[in-house]
Amino acid sequence: QLSERLKRVGSYVEKNARLADIGSDHAYLPCYLAKHRLIDFAIAGEVVKGPFQSAERQVRSEGLTDRVEVRMGDGLEVIRSEDEISTITIAGMGGPLIAKILDRGEKNAALASRLILQPNIHAWSIREWAEKNEWNIVDEDILEENQKIYEILVLEKGNMTLTEAQRLLGPILMKKKSETFQKKWLREKQEWVRILEHLPAEERPEILEKKEELRIKIQMVEEVL
Ligand code: SAM
Repeated sequence: QLSERLKRVGSYVEKNARLADIGSDHAYLPCYLAKHRLIDFAIAGEVVKGPFQSAERQVRSEGLTDRVEVRMGDGLEVIRSEDEISTITIAGMGGPLIAKILDRGEKNAALASRLILQPNIHAWSIREWAEKNEWNIVDEDILEENQKIYEILVLEKGNMTLTEAQRLLGPILMKKKSETFQKKWLREKQEWVRILEHLPAEERPEILEKKEELRIKIQMVEEVL
């Protein structure tokens, strides 16, 4: 049974896509999509031996070796131009790690027309990367599963400029303002308020700076909620 989180990521993969799922672990996402004939072909990329072997076992046991190819390698280096990959998914990692993988594999990222990214935390770092590297946010989603809140970002080539608030909260999520979105940011805001209250009263520059940063973030969230 595929998690709600990965199902939602999969729902942004276009039919008949040629997919590269990077950091695939058990290759659950590409196997699910291939099994339901929602994609034509997938690469499941893994850099760690254990998960790589789990992915191979999963693909074999589902009888999908003709459509899902498991490759060992770091980030996007498992993609070759002849694979004609149309979509890349990277899910279940921190935003900064996803941004780093994209940054290091920028040339291969550009082989795809759509990137579907699901950071567990710090989605802003992906938005920042997208802005710098000429990817545009075409959709965003947010969901809660097992008490955790996940964001999904869908990128296609294009230019965009974001405000600070859009970078932090997501330009589309901010507009949709779903219940889950409000829950997430209310939680984050409460945490920042708590930190702010516990910071020492001293006038050291780094403490003043931290306080100012928290106040700005709190205000950004309050303006949107
Ligand atoms: N994508 C799956 C999901 O969302 O459930 C698995 C997420 S799992 C927490 C992260 C996986 O990414 C791990 O199996 C890890 O080995 C892999 N990983 C981390 N850095 C990677 C990199 N640079 N290249 C390929 N895989 C990587």
